[in-house]
Amino acid sequence: MNYPDRFDVIVIGGGHAGTEAALASARMGCQTLLLTHNIETLGQMSCNPAIGGIGKSHLVKEIDALGGAMGLATDLGGIQFRVLNARKGPAVRATRAQADRIRYKAAIRGMLENQPNLTLFQQAAGDLIVENDTVRGVVTETGIRFLAESVVLCTGTFLGGVIHIGLEQSRGGRAGDPPSNALAERLRALPFRVDRLKTGTPPRLDAKSIDFSQLEEQPGDTPTPVISYLGSREMHPRQVSCHIAHTNERTHEIIFANLDRSPMYSGVIEGVGPRYCPSIEDKVHRFADKSSHQVFIEPEGLDTHELYPNGISTSLPFDVQLQVVRSIKGLENAHITRPGYAIEYDFFDPRDLKHSLETKFIHNLFFAGQINGTTGYEEAGAQGLLAGLNAARRAKSLEAWAPRRDEAYLGVLVDDLITLGTKEPYRMFTSRAEYRLLLREDNADLRLTETGRALGLIDDTRWAAFATKREAIDKERTRLESTWVQPESPAAKRIAEKTGKTLGREYRLADLLKRPELVYADIAALPGLEGHWVEDEAVAEQVQIQAKYQGYIDRQQEEIDKLKRHEAMPLPADLDYLKVEGLSHEIRQKLGEARPETLAQASRISGVTPAAVSILLIHLKKRR
Ligand code: FAD
Repeated sequence: MNYPDRFDVIVIGGGHAGTEAALASARMGCQTLLLTHNIETLGQMSCNPAIGGIGKSHLVKEIDALGGAMGLATDLGGIQFRVLNARKGPAVRATRAQADRIRYKAAIRGMLENQPNLTLFQQAAGDLIVENDTVRGVVTETGIRFLAESVVLCTGTFLGGVIHIGLEQSRGGRAGDPPSNALAERLRALPFRVDRLKTGTPPRLDAKSIDFSQLEEQPGDTPTPVISYLGSREMHPRQVSCHIAHTNERTHEIIFANLDRSPMYSGVIEGVGPRYCPSIEDKVHRFADKSSHQVFIEPEGLDTHELYPNGISTSLPFDVQLQVVRSIKGLENAHITRPGYAIEYDFFDPRDLKHSLETKFIHNLFFAGQINGTTGYEEAGAQGLLAGLNAARRAKSLEAWAPRRDEAYLGVLVDDLITLGTKEPYRMFTSRAEYRLLLREDNADLRLTETGRALGLIDDTRWAAFATKREAIDKERTRLESTWVQPESPAAKRIAEKTGKTLGREYRLADLLKRPELVYADIAALPGLEGHWVEDEAVAEQVQIQAKYQGYIDRQQEEIDKLKRHEAMPLPADLDYLKVEGLSHEIRQKLGEARPETLAQASRISGVTPAAVSILLIHLKKRR
């Protein structure tokens, strides 16, 4: 049957990409249908119950800055929060939250159910309606036809999913869920490049069978960090500790002795796995000289005894999994509640996508999430938001929007994917962003919320909170720039007490704040000065970071401006790229073959990085 209502946007898949896509499209006023296998699994965390971490928290904050759900759901479901790299510079600081997976899922479902313009429907999508290279709608596996202007595919690990436990195989999208085979076949018939990837998950453990006295406790940070720009500590449920265990030589012996029963090492699995989240068998094989690996024992939630042993993802047979787990100190009597497994699935070469995440071959069809070769909830959510907003813009006949590499990690993620493609599950790292001093997790709102408002993604509540914060930052920066501390004054004496150095002349507060031994709290409330300091932690943090790193930030901004100014610079037709020092062999070859006419054209060639464009620019200047 034809469903009687027509939609602007249909999103297939209610995982992390699909939920952000559907919410973004609906926030922009488009009638949106979220079609998913099972309403009970909306926002389900397939693997570890944690959000954020290095590079990933930046994406979560960007999703949040654009009005998305992941940050707020984490504040509502987070049971342990920590700032990683807290002692390092602000560019690489990253917040990570352990989540109660039931509370997280409930938070996402609540937001979806309460979102105006959004309709949920539980069914498997089996086919796409495509006419004249344009998608027109979706047909469910039971034959219901839904029509729409644009369609976003967010099917995760489900396309042609095969689950491996030892040498046993079964078909599934993840444990307990069916695969998406009809849709996988339909997509394989379209002109996209398709390949297989693999990922895995550890066995889950029953906390009642663990001897915690043998493990190292790891509490969360105090004060508890908050993820969303609209979040607060009061939103957090009760906080709990994680624990740390260690594999040992006996564990590694068991794994080595059973590698022939591993689907990865016996050649049964062909898909490439995530390099930065390897299975335990991969780790002991690759780092054979290491006699121990850390295992983080993480609670799955407040109302369950299940634990997630982070670090021993495996697809070894169940009997080996049990031996491996029980060889670890403190886990000698552990009961496994769910076996670990690996899953292989179809992904589509992201080089067949545009910056908007629309496919190049089928108009109005967008791909987001694990289907594009990425791994991780945050990478999926960020792509979902971008695809959802562009599907909505397409439905409204508006031009596509995507952030640049110097504006957002989301820009880096999409640019990397569509220009370089990927041969292994792609995860985000701060090292992937060349302008990481500008793209910090603390300033994602200052970078993106105004654009989000213009795109129609930001509601009045978020906009008002953002405007108040931005105004407070500007006001306090002005106060620090214009307030002077005179030598011999009470304020100068306080600074001397703090730093052991007397002020020989007058200084502005802004300059004092640049000193490494002083933080905002030290200079904010100096005696005898005009104006009131700010108590809002986020504003204070921002003022401090901007003051301390201004020099570096300005330099990075100049570099970006310089590149933008020179984008139109012509590249001589006779330029011998083999003679350009500093370029990799691969880039020299690509440029030599493509012979771009301008620097801008060169920068858009797949694999030509911004660093390579900088080298080209220097070379051109030398030639003149
Ligand atoms: P998913 O979260 O997979 O969601 C897909 C959604 O689409 C599901 O709701 C599904 O029901 C629905 N769907 C699929 N097909 C259809 C259809 N035809 N019709 C209707 N609905 C459909 N990430 C890491 O960062 N590190 C890890 O170590 C890690 N390990 C993993 C281990 C396993 C076993 C699995 C399964 C995943 C693992 N992940 C890991 C990946 C992480 O779960 C994904 O990156 C993330 O969930 C991707 O989000 P997504 O929205 O793209 O897809």
